Amino acid sequence: MQKLHLGIDRSTYQIEFKKICEIAENMGFDGIELQPEHPEIFKIYPNKAVSFINDILSNYRFNISFHTPIKDLNISAYNKKIRQFSINQIKESIEFARNIGAKYVVTHGGKNSFKTASSFSRKYGKIALNSTIDALISFYDICSDNGITLSIENMSYSDWRMTSKIKYLERIFQEIPDLKLTLDIDHAILRSKTYVGKIIEVFNNKLLSSHIGLVKNYTSYIEKLIKLTNFKFFVLEPHSLTHLINPNIINLIEINKNELKKIIK
Ligand SMILES: [Zn+2]
Repeated sequence: MQKLHLGIDRSTYQIEFKKICEIAENMGFDGIELQPEHPEIFKIYPNKAVSFINDILSNYRFNISFHTPIKDLNISAYNKKIRQFSINQIKESIEFARNIGAKYVVTHGGKNSFKTASSFSRKYGKIALNSTIDALISFYDICSDNGITLSIENMSYSDWRMTSKIKYLERIFQEIPDLKLTLDIDHAILRSKTYVGKIIEVFNNKLLSSHIGLVKNYTSYIEKLIKLTNFKFFVLEPHSLTHLINPNIINLIEINKNELKKIIK
């Protein structure tokens, strides 16, 4: 049976990390997917954050997955220094993931710095995809040296996000066949409902995990995913549950976790 992780994303940033772990345990999650940008962690990240997190985690028997930092980074940036800095930040975060015992790391692809249509934007798009591939190869090597699985997340459908379209993902997997895929259903569905199904079909043997939100909207995809032998983790991402005004986030997590458990049992 698949493991169920709670995503420590921006919608949990107002809750203390210790409290989130307590909530995850009480609700019966198997683990957490940590993003280091939770403010309580990020202010002491990376060095002091390792013992801070490990001290808290020692009270639980959680599986840990790790989401690399997102804010302000772009591994395909046109500005060489920003690109290199971004790549180094991700590399540093993989070391961090190892130190907190993460089983797998999920990361985003880069972005074409030229988002609006122009001939240069098209030209740079090719370079941006190559930068993403080169960076992913270097992340993959660090992960394998440390016994960690590396997965990339499909981003919201757009020309300029280098892990959003099927044709970009195909290129990436061609170059790094052992890389895994984390399907973010909310990101894929921005294109269309059919597109979600298509990603599952095309990359069925690459799928490791899925970021999900409102479970009742995604039952048919969840049913497809649980049939895949290589598919191991569902990560409930609280930010995907907060389309309502003033949501009670803890309540929403619990409702969706229960619905998901009913399907995967
Ligand atoms: Zn993500």
